[in-house]
Amino acid sequence: METCIFCKIAAGEIPSSKVYEDGEMLIFKDIAPIAKVHLLCVPKEHFAYLSELNGAREALLGRMMAKIASLAPSLGLEDGYRLVINQGESAGQTVHHLHIHILGGETLKWE
Ligand code: AMP
Repeated sequence: METCIFCKIAAGEIPSSKVYEDGEMLIFKDIAPIAKVHLLCVPKEHFAYLSELNGAREALLGRMMAKIASLAPSLGLEDGYRLVINQGESAGQTVHHLHIHILGGETLKWE
């Protein structure tokens, strides 16, 4: 989608601090971190919401979670991390391209 900021990052049209990339996903540093480690895992395919999942996207989401788990120790997340997917305006979703926030690198509060 030509106006989507995460599509532009995936296409290399906007710079990002990438920590991982393959043919179907990328992981990069959030530009406004709310934890010592704050990364975003983004599928290269554009879709906005979990309600748009189909069989292929369900499998992709599973591979994204597995990739996060396998990379965690090398990303400073060996003591644990939190995954967040904001869905919709009232949940605080500002970029309408599905993404997983990866938070950690410190003790996280749960309030
Ligand atoms: P959300 O509010 O769940 O939609 O999350 C969107 C996230 O994208 C926010 O945490 C932003 O700080 C982050 N963000 C927006 N633009 C960029 C960018 N160009 N590079 C990295 N992170 C970004």
